[in-house]
Amino acid sequence: MMQGTCVYCGQTKLVNTVDQEEADKQATLECQCEGAKKERRILQLDDAIEDLFSEKNVDKRFDAASDFEIETIKNIARTVLCNGSRKGSIMLYDGTKATVARKSNGDISIQRNLAVNLEILC
Ligand SMILES: [Zn+2]
Repeated sequence: MMQGTCVYCGQTKLVNTVDQEEADKQATLECQCEGAKKERRILQLDDAIEDLFSEKNVDKRFDAASDFEIETIKNIARTVLCNGSRKGSIMLYDGTKATVARKSNGDISIQRNLAVNLEILC
């Protein structure tokens, strides 16, 4: 057992690791302070984004987005979660659109959809 310290509030906790860095990480993950809660939400959002956009994407109708696109979507999600922005989106190379939005109840929605392209030439 080691003593880990939450990186946000400094609260210490005994955790079952052998490495200090790991102990601090574990203590942070288990802490109930606001900073730690926010970090857990960011990790949750990252997982959800991986599920929708990476190679392991659950819906095989879509191609995997590039690593750079996935990083960009994660950054949009962080902006929506932490900066109070309401919504952000990016059109991906395959023509699908990624949208991250904050709902009125505080939930964050992540969507991937095919845009309907209407074009007028004149
Ligand atoms: Zn904490």
